[in-house]
Amino acid sequence: MRKLLILGAGTAGTMAANHLRTKLGTDWTITVVDRDRGHHYQPGYLFVPFWMEPERVVRDRVPLLADGVTFVEGQVALVRPEHRRVELADGRVLDYDWLVIASGTRPDPSLVEGMAEALAGKDAVHHFYTLDAATALRDALARFDRGRLLVHVSEMPIKCPVAPLEFVFLVEDHYRKRGIRHQVDITYVTPLDGAFTKPVASEALGGLLKDRSIRLAPDFAAERVDGPGRRLVAYDGRELSFDLLVTVPPNVGQQFVMDSGLGNDAGFVPVDKHTLRSVEHERIFVLGDASDIPTSKAGSVAHFATETFIDNFLAAVDGRPLPNVFDGHANCFIESGRGQAMLLDFNYDTEPLLGSFPAPVVGPMALLKPSRVNHLGKLAFEQIYWRMLLPGHRLPVPTAMSMAGKRRPKE
Ligand SMILES: Cc1cc2nc3c(=O)[nH]c(=O)nc-3n(C[C@H](O)[C@H](O)[C@H](O)COP(=O)(O)OP(=O)(O)OC[C@H]3O[C@@H](n4cnc5c(N)ncnc54)[C@H](O)[C@@H]3O)c2cc1C
Repeated sequence: MRKLLILGAGTAGTMAANHLRTKLGTDWTITVVDRDRGHHYQPGYLFVPFWMEPERVVRDRVPLLADGVTFVEGQVALVRPEHRRVELADGRVLDYDWLVIASGTRPDPSLVEGMAEALAGKDAVHHFYTLDAATALRDALARFDRGRLLVHVSEMPIKCPVAPLEFVFLVEDHYRKRGIRHQVDITYVTPLDGAFTKPVASEALGGLLKDRSIRLAPDFAAERVDGPGRRLVAYDGRELSFDLLVTVPPNVGQQFVMDSGLGNDAGFVPVDKHTLRSVEHERIFVLGDASDIPTSKAGSVAHFATETFIDNFLAAVDGRPLPNVFDGHANCFIESGRGQAMLLDFNYDTEPLLGSFPAPVVGPMALLKPSRVNHLGKLAFEQIYWRMLLPGHRLPVPTAMSMAGKRRPKE
């Protein structure tokens, strides 16, 4: 028997296990390890502070895995590639012939002075990158009805880099609908030099912030959160006061990746960005947010990358050259409030552009422009995630990014 071990039964680990169970013969065992049984639909965290019931976000992981995939509940503590084995925190040991690391990323507020303490108080400082935090933020928003609100990104990369922008548009809409928008002063605080990373998207999103009278504080590298004094302080000495701070803490790789010496400084595993194979260990592939590939950390990336990975994995185990090249394709909806959303589609080489998706002219979705259809697409994605993506069914979206429908702005 040959053994495939997958660390993490989140978006990427579940998809990979389900795809590979149909492709690998009965001479293979597939085992997936996760620390608990609750699979979270993380895009739902964005909506929990506004309208989504927290319970709706979580499902039991085990029925999401195909028959013939073994689930092990346990905390991964260490990977020993030289012995091809993985140690769990409770002392159990799992060996493998091939390993897939799909353990994602986690918010680590301890990296910004004062942030962890301020978040623990659940008073004026919140985040929405875990279900518990998003639920506490829902209650804080209900209480908050006047004052200075900061929506803040600590540093990049973070998973779903558009989520804080979506939050700022949704929270603006929230106060507008409550009729007290004039009482709430909203600022988007980012370490980037504009609203987003690339020029075309940054301009479109910056324009929308302006239209909604949301202030932008760019180039803000937060040094510390002064919880009691309600101030956010930057390394360059700038200070922003707040009555409510919604922050995105730094995102890092998992502790076991760091402890095993497999990660870079932030705990992300260096891989070949086109094949997702570890640069150091040829029997390890890394899927989803856990790797260091230079594209968004997003479920859509995990999806496209996993599709290219499957045939590469089958070739690798047979000692053949890897046939597929991953282009860094990402496809992200951005909720923009007013029942609309924008859409970004890009890859390693092409920044998000204007136009229509997936077809030229007819779309039906608009790139980098708020539209109702995009918003409905974002809402529909929840069911697509559970019913199509995780089971490993193919979606009618090309794995590689296409230029069809895209246009560059006029100089
Ligand atoms: C607020 C928010 C909004 C988002 N919105 C979108 C969106 O609209 N579109 C989009 O494409 N993406 C979105 N994302 C990002 C998306 O959810 C992630 O990129 C995606 O889930 C990554 O998949 P993954 O498999 O790499 O990691 P995950 O799905 O996070 O899975 C990692 C798994 O590893 C397990 N694990 C970690 N460490 C250990 C350990 N030591 N032992 C055992 N198990 C372990 C975890 O329990 C987890 O189940 C959003 C994320 C957030 C937080």
